[in-house]
Amino acid sequence: MSHTVVLIEDEPSISEPLAAALAGEGFDVAVAGTGRAGLDLIAQREPDLVLLDVMLPDIDGRDVCRTLRARSDVPVIMLTARGRETDRVVGLELGADDYVVKPFGMAELVARMRAVLRRAGQPAAPVEPPATTLQVGDVRLDERTWSATRGDTDLELARREFELLRLLMRNAGTVLSREQLMEEVWDPNWFGPTKTLDVHVSALRRKLGDDPTAPRYIHTVRGVGFRFAAPEELAG
Ligand code: CA
Repeated sequence: MSHTVVLIEDEPSISEPLAAALAGEGFDVAVAGTGRAGLDLIAQREPDLVLLDVMLPDIDGRDVCRTLRARSDVPVIMLTARGRETDRVVGLELGADDYVVKPFGMAELVARMRAVLRRAGQPAAPVEPPATTLQVGDVRLDERTWSATRGDTDLELARREFELLRLLMRNAGTVLSREQLMEEVWDPNWFGPTKTLDVHVSALRRKLGDDPTAPRYIHTVRGVGFRFAAPEELAG
């Protein structure tokens, strides 16, 4: 699927060869010679990207960008003849995604266009970083240091034990089947006996000081799997 580009540029000596070259690169290009015509064309075509000249005969390209930003998230690359740093900064502060300084080469422009389109196509980065610590009751797990503690005691877990405890704690209160645990911690295509799971659960219980006949943290659900205690069970 080709990307639609609106090029707003008043100089035919620039816009004509540029439009032809971009069409040759596979873009679907529409050209406007004034800021006002450009805004109309963008409203009509809803392009994937806008190439916007700064020096236009009617509206300053920066005002076009500002107007556009108030109503659209379409990526904008400013085409500027002015090489002064202040103009560049102003262009980006207006909400432009990038800029190229005239005279620019096609290869440079197309590379920037593809980079901007790639960024625009990605989902927004999550605002909050993923959690790096987990706590259920007095058991605490830190993913940055691969360590786990119960109260003040370091549990000194082996890697698989840590991964198993992490998975159980992430799902605290919910039963995870033996198969789920094997697949997540050992092998996504695991099929076969689950003895190693019992060995690791036993080790975890021992390190947690859990009594296997009346466990407080890791509960056995017969015929199904295991469940880490819900926070409210450990609150008392
Ligand atoms: Ca111009």
